[in-house]
Amino acid sequence: MSLHVIFEPAKCQGYANCLIEAPEIWDFDEDENRAVLRQDMLDDTLRAKAEASARCCPAQAISIEERTP
Ligand code: SF4
Repeated sequence: MSLHVIFEPAKCQGYANCLIEAPEIWDFDEDENRAVLRQDMLDDTLRAKAEASARCCPAQAISIEERTP
């Protein structure tokens, strides 16, 4: 099982909550005023942070998916 972050940039409103919750996963593009996903395949140590960033996104631009290889 691996953990994937799905990001829909078109939905992003630039609130940056995701970046505050999980700076290991997110970056921010000031010019575009939206989040940038730094890594989409995560190991289990970042699970809680990935889930927190998805939960705190007011635009529902982030979802988490478990995939079997
Ligand atoms: S919390 Fe959501 S809306 Fe805000 S920057 Fe992150 S992805 Fe975009």
